Amino acid sequence: MDERMDAIVVGAGPAGVTAARALADAGLAVVVLERGQFPGSKNVWGGILYRQPTEEICPGFEAEAPLERPIIEQRYLMLTEDAVLGATYRTQRFAEPPHNAYSVLRSPFDRWYATKAEEAGAEVFSEFTVTDLLWEDGRVVGVTTGDADGELYARCVVLADGANSLLAQKAGLHKEWAPIEQALVAKELIALPAGTIEDRFALPAGMGTALEVFGEATWGLLGYGFVYTNRDSLSIGTGALLEDLIRTGINVNDMLDRFKRHPAIAPLIAGGETVEYSAHLIPEGGYHRMPRVYADGVVVVGDAAGFVNPLNREGVNLAMLSGTLAAQAVTEAAATDDFSAASLARYRDLLDDSIVIKDLYKIRNATDYAHARPHLLTEYPRLVSDAAREYLTVDGFSKKEKQAKIGGMFRGLPKRRLLGDLIGAARAMT
Ligand SMILES: Cc1cc2nc3c(=O)[nH]c(=O)nc-3n(C[C@H](O)[C@H](O)[C@H](O)COP(=O)(O)OP(=O)(O)OC[C@H]3O[C@@H](n4cnc5c(N)ncnc54)[C@H](O)[C@@H]3O)c2cc1C
Repeated sequence: MDERMDAIVVGAGPAGVTAARALADAGLAVVVLERGQFPGSKNVWGGILYRQPTEEICPGFEAEAPLERPIIEQRYLMLTEDAVLGATYRTQRFAEPPHNAYSVLRSPFDRWYATKAEEAGAEVFSEFTVTDLLWEDGRVVGVTTGDADGELYARCVVLADGANSLLAQKAGLHKEWAPIEQALVAKELIALPAGTIEDRFALPAGMGTALEVFGEATWGLLGYGFVYTNRDSLSIGTGALLEDLIRTGINVNDMLDRFKRHPAIAPLIAGGETVEYSAHLIPEGGYHRMPRVYADGVVVVGDAAGFVNPLNREGVNLAMLSGTLAAQAVTEAAATDDFSAASLARYRDLLDDSIVIKDLYKIRNATDYAHARPHLLTEYPRLVSDAAREYLTVDGFSKKEKQAKIGGMFRGLPKRRLLGDLIGAARAMT
């Protein structure tokens, strides 16, 4: 391995590979160090990959990448213990190119995506776990794997080591995420024949759907469950903010088992075989808790910097975009041979101008809003479910009597709290 690289990228997830590819395209000498057996071997997600941002960064990917199904439908479900309320959007437009999104399995996708960085000239080394940074005069000058011959030097280090980045902490850029700043999600891959999936979800052959499920899906905690259709498997998972899991003592494995047994979910997965299980953190601190993303000789990208939009299920696209912008800043720094913090601050400027920061800013208060109001995912859905059951049950009561009964249910709600919820929601989303 050449020990004087232009850049070392730690982590071969979407953020690291995108940065490495762009740096190699710019003519810089880049290595990517990945701790897994191969890129993607340890990676976890739901997951839905959006076409447009991926196409922008990796033109023509649809012809080559291992994709599962184009997503033509989005369902939002709210579960109570025995009922389901929901909204569905399906459009024929998503069924025809250009598609909006695909279901994707991370392991084959990441493995393929890493070859794109290699084709551009980056060297990708698997089974290299970076344990620390190397410093000289207060600036990062390389990384070490902890072995006697495991030191590697570069003009700049790109930290793309994912959620709870230990290396960004070692760089002094942020503290360990607090439990309120991250979610823990358990996920299974359940094998089912393609035809069974299409019958159960009423899908045309080859097409897919995405379900986001709230309320009982997370035992009423802030978070959500999901079911995504792959070619011949379902990705199913659920999780919540770590702080709430710790406070309630709820284990995400139990939460997932409970989710799978719910009467609205069990028939979807019946007869399937669990072929993979994983659990993973998602950094959800958002805009207010974003770390500093650059210092002398180092930049931080993707999940390591907390670039996840949990409201819109966007992580990979933000990881890729931040990788692109970091590579741009590093390439400009290389042109002037200035990798100081002042020079790499350009990365933050580029981020500020991009949807990464614009979107995180837009939803900056959403988690705090919802976290302070647990009744949104418990009491309100139960009430709406009771009202719907009352309305739909034909039992000899007149419609006027039913209307009065339903009105009575809602009149019991504390008015000030309801008003606060509505005003808070409007504020949280502006
Ligand atoms: C359950 C779940 C569902 C999700 N669903 C979606 C979804 O549907 N759509 C979406 O867009 N996003 C989704 N996300 C978020 C998305 O997965 C992340 O935002 C995205 O993977 C971030 O990419 P990254 O490259 O920053 O980090 P990662 O993908 O985590 O990659 C980090 C890489 O660094 C490596 N690494 C870590 N430490 C070291 C080290 N010390 N030395 C060497 N290598 C190291 C890891 O092995 C890994 O390969 C989901 C996340 C989870 C957990």
